[in-house]
Amino acid sequence: MSLGEVIQEALRERLGERKLICVLCGGTRWFMEGGISNIPVQDRIGGGLIIGGKAMPLTTLICEVCGYTILLNILKLVGKKKLEAIIRESKTDQMIEEVLKERGNG
Ligand SMILES: [Zn+2]
Repeated sequence: MSLGEVIQEALRERLGERKLICVLCGGTRWFMEGGISNIPVQDRIGGGLIIGGKAMPLTTLICEVCGYTILLNILKLVGKKKLEAIIRESKTDQMIEEVLKERGNG
């Protein structure tokens, strides 16, 4: 199972029978942008370009009608154990592995 599939499955489990409703347009159709968006985490305001360092691994849900975008932290959505299993299977998600090492917990 790919990371994208695991994320979608985790989201379906969280939502159950509920529909995710867009706060801007009321739409209920969403698409997931492929890949992971990393937002740097800093302990100070300002600063310039960061190479390396802490980052939050996020996946994006985008409203098909208006483009409203939701960011979900995959460490919380999927959970550390499942992410570690994906890493063991694929060995291609080194970025996630680095984040898990930094955090030390899930
Ligand atoms: Zn919308």
